[in-house]
Amino acid sequence: MPLRFHNTLTQQTEPFLPARDNTVRMYTCGPTVYDFAHIGNFRTFTFVDLLRKVLRLNGFALNHVMNITDVDDKIIRNAVARRQSIADFTTTYTQAFLDDCATLRLERPERLSKATEHIDDMVRAIGDLGAKGHTYTTEGSVYYKIATFPEYGKLSHNDFSGNLAGARVDVDTYEKNDARDFALWKAPKEGEPFWDAGIGPGRPGWHIECSVMAIKYLGETLDIHAGGIDLVFPHHENEIAQSEALTGKQFARFWLHAEFLLVEGQKMSKSLGNFYTLRDLVGRGYAPEAIRYLLISVPYRKQLNFTLDGLKAAVIAIERLRNFKLRLETDRFAEGLNEALAGRTAQAAEAFRDGLDDDLNTAEALAAVFELVRDLNTAMDAGEFRAGNVAAALDFLKVFDSVFDVLTPTAKAGELSDADVDARIAERAAAKKAKNFALADEIRNQLLEQGIVLEDTKAGVRWKRK
Ligand code: AMP
Ligand code: ZN
Repeated sequence: MPLRFHNTLTQQTEPFLPARDNTVRMYTCGPTVYDFAHIGNFRTFTFVDLLRKVLRLNGFALNHVMNITDVDDKIIRNAVARRQSIADFTTTYTQAFLDDCATLRLERPERLSKATEHIDDMVRAIGDLGAKGHTYTTEGSVYYKIATFPEYGKLSHNDFSGNLAGARVDVDTYEKNDARDFALWKAPKEGEPFWDAGIGPGRPGWHIECSVMAIKYLGETLDIHAGGIDLVFPHHENEIAQSEALTGKQFARFWLHAEFLLVEGQKMSKSLGNFYTLRDLVGRGYAPEAIRYLLISVPYRKQLNFTLDGLKAAVIAIERLRNFKLRLETDRFAEGLNEALAGRTAQAAEAFRDGLDDDLNTAEALAAVFELVRDLNTAMDAGEFRAGNVAAALDFLKVFDSVFDVLTPTAKAGELSDADVDARIAERAAAKKAKNFALADEIRNQLLEQGIVLEDTKAGVRWKRK
């Protein structure tokens, strides 16, 4: 079956191919950098990472843009409270976000683009929308008149025709189903920072940045636009109204939205105070890869109920996979090939790919992995597994880890990284070759003190953390 995604726009699951050549042009909404992101936010960003990796597994190249919202109401409020400039304040939290993404092994999009670096582009777009009759100005603020865009509501599947009465809204998010004219440019309130960019002092509304940066860097029609489910309305609905009014073309072919991460039945959010940051959890001793695993393991269109027990189960699941890999690498198996097990491995690898291609069904993909691990462990215990079966099983784990990326442990602070360990092992090999066995033993003991166990096998040195 071909790769397919559930498209919020059509409410159908559709086969996916990029519109032009082999490159997927993708835009995803990034963070508002007013504080540390919580792991609910990271569920959405980890889903985007999964999407990238599955697209790549399908042989596509990526051109992916993510914005950083570095000016909005919350940022201004928090920066003023700390007596910091917007730039200093947002630099801190942008870096924290990027560090957290690296901790969770999220790939960097091809381009990260900041709202404040595109003010002129936004002002130009607002002017163009005005020239086409889509805007009006009141008390220095410019609004998008949604009654001028008859298709308003097509993404969230709401019929707004009854309430396009011209009510306005200044805040960036507003009540579900309550369609209002939204601000493209906001006049400054007392004490607020502003830009003087040709349409009166002010700052951009949140929605316009995404339309402008997406079109600027990716063209008028995106292959994929993605984000959290809460962005469908009003944010993405507004992005469509702006972009399609500007270009007259479809803005995005596929719209993908990740469901919420919940805590005891409620959305994890800053305002409810029921959140963990990544730093909280890592500080409690949970490995980042366990958090990553937990976030990916529930298919993105299902809500994920976060519990520490769930996180502990993720730790155990990863351990099981690592032990299986180590067993493949270090056990001695009888020569030959067990054809049945080779077939079983190939079938699991196919089921894994089928699961991911089925709208990123990670639950199906993981089931394929764990069923194979169970079967092959049983075959190993029974002495049926053969040396000739090792390579295919390791290859499968490699494909698995090109997507899930959880098999390599994260080095703890002060711990040797994998690369450090490999370098020490190379030194030990050189010492042995030079018949300096005292040094070789010393290196082995030093590594042992740091919790690294070496094992000399026919295939070379293997190591693991204690
Ligand atoms: P923000 O930084 O508030 O703009 O949010 C960044 C992203 O996190 C958005 O795409 C939201 O949809 C997403 N998000 C916020 N809360 C949650 C949650 N509890 N679960 C999943 N995604 C969330
Ligand atoms: Zn956006």
